[in-house]
Amino acid sequence: MIVAYRLSIDDDDSHFLGDESFRPPQSAGFHDWRFGRAEHPHPATCPTCGRKTDPDFINPSFRVKRRRRDIVATADGYCLASERFRRYCASQPWEGVKFLPLPADPDFFVFRPTLVLPFDAARRGTRFENPCPTCREYYNVIGATPVYLVGIERIQDGLYRTDLEFGSGPEQQPVTLAGISSGEELRKQKFTGLTLCPVAT
Ligand SMILES: [Zn+2]
Repeated sequence: MIVAYRLSIDDDDSHFLGDESFRPPQSAGFHDWRFGRAEHPHPATCPTCGRKTDPDFINPSFRVKRRRRDIVATADGYCLASERFRRYCASQPWEGVKFLPLPADPDFFVFRPTLVLPFDAARRGTRFENPCPTCREYYNVIGATPVYLVGIERIQDGLYRTDLEFGSGPEQQPVTLAGISSGEELRKQKFTGLTLCPVAT
């Protein structure tokens, strides 16, 4: 039985945290590069492992690269949506969908659902590896699909994110999900860059 749709989003082939990176003196088992500069590591990341630590960070000079898409994701786990996608979501009775403006790119918004669904990591067999002594989170969280949710039979209308974020270091991002009829409506809109994948129990 289908309980939801997962939003699979095309890559933008860009980094929201910026283009500067450096090699830390010791990788300590994490990536051998970090965002920012050696004398000034990126302020929105953990100085030890490079994970994102500031959920409110907005890059003041970022512009979307693949501009014909309605929705794209950067390699460092940010979703950007077009004005058309934003307007469509605003026309729906969905709560908790945030669109944050980009100072350098008025055509796109950081897209972020705020309603959270619990991911069933035990059932999926998600691996949590390489804990960081500084931010106290796991550097590797591997195993996001297939999506299993804790105690959910059918997701209500709207857009959601999982409580867990998946990936390694700065690329970590939650899974974005839509309720069944919301996912089917989104599919009818033919937004470019977006594929809706059924989530079954
Ligand atoms: Zn860390």
